[in-house]
Amino acid sequence: MTSSPRLPVDALMTVANRPDTVFTRGDGSWLWDEHGRRHLDLVQGWAVNTLGHAAPEIAAALAAQAGRVLHVGPGFHNDRAIALAGRLTALSGLDRCFFTNSGAEANEGAIKLARKFGQVHRGGAYEIITFEHSFHGRTLATMSASGKPGFDTLFAPQVPGFPKARLNNLASVEALVNANTVAVMLEPIQGEAGVVEATPGFLQALRTLCDSRGLLLVLDEVQTGVGRTGTWWGHDAAGVVPDIMTLGKGLGGGVPIGALLAREAVCCFAPGDQGGTYNGNALVCAAALAVVNAVDAPSFLPNVQARSHQLRTGLDRIGHRVGSPPVRGRGLLLALDLPGAGQALQVAETLRLRAETGVLVNAVRPQRLRLIPALNITEAEVALALAALEEAIP
Ligand SMILES: *Cc1c(COP(=O)(O)O)cnc(C)c1O
Repeated sequence: MTSSPRLPVDALMTVANRPDTVFTRGDGSWLWDEHGRRHLDLVQGWAVNTLGHAAPEIAAALAAQAGRVLHVGPGFHNDRAIALAGRLTALSGLDRCFFTNSGAEANEGAIKLARKFGQVHRGGAYEIITFEHSFHGRTLATMSASGKPGFDTLFAPQVPGFPKARLNNLASVEALVNANTVAVMLEPIQGEAGVVEATPGFLQALRTLCDSRGLLLVLDEVQTGVGRTGTWWGHDAAGVVPDIMTLGKGLGGGVPIGALLAREAVCCFAPGDQGGTYNGNALVCAAALAVVNAVDAPSFLPNVQARSHQLRTGLDRIGHRVGSPPVRGRGLLLALDLPGAGQALQVAETLRLRAETGVLVNAVRPQRLRLIPALNITEAEVALALAALEEAIP
């Protein structure tokens, strides 16, 4: 990788291989680089920008809040955090909310809450059953909870207490339950693993198992929450309600915020147990409120479903032509397998460098493309994306 002569990228610590492109502005599903080249963005900051780039609702909320108050600290209430907690609890059916700065931090909080619940109500039970190939974040505890290959030895030793079961295999979960078990934690759709769904039947069976054994069901909805799957929450498709749910990514629409929601009976933190300087910051809560209001508009989720159908139909047509299995995922969290070794990586590169208009897609695996566009992407933009994919996949 060569570094730009004008921008000192060498001052950034290397933690990822990034192309030399430097983005400077965006609008909805479009992103422009420093040379004025435009890209149709189907990655959107990693399933983050619910309303696309430079959403006017978010810009207005941020500007208004910046002129009012940014931060009063964790020792005082602010009206934006109270309003957002009220909306999220009403929309989820859960009772209480704790705000964080990221998805990993929300999961870290969920782990702490489950362990505290074990101390208070379950005789010190602390084990949380998680799943192979899961992804829950990059703090030490959330890396330990994750089943991503390699995470077990990177930065060893791990935080103990996260035995791994196999997704959609109830017997593998039951085999791990013992007197120390306090919770089962999973993503309704494993996003980073390559868009791998927990089946509705599996989620229902886990709910039944948790109820019968006194365990907490913790759902990591950092990627699937806030409309991404075409309904408010990824678990809606299964009709189960978790005891604890975590949010991140799409909640802030590009502004860093996460949240931990829980049933009243689970909320056992005592004052001083959990916190953080910026948690519930008024500025980020104002942005998240703008996102929640937009997603709650009557036509918003029906549009996500319509665009999902359009995108899935087009992807299935391409997949049928090249011999792929059916498209994975729900809503606007979709993935297409390609038959050639490393073909997804190649197609992502071809699309990014495409003449005139680049198209940004994510090769979540070397042979699997993931599409996570803005939830307000238009019919014409989906059509353009499909035409570009048709052309890039021989
Ligand atoms: C992205 C992600 C996380 C981590 O969120 P960060 O904001 O990067 O800390 C956790 N869980 C899931 C399911 C995710 O997709």
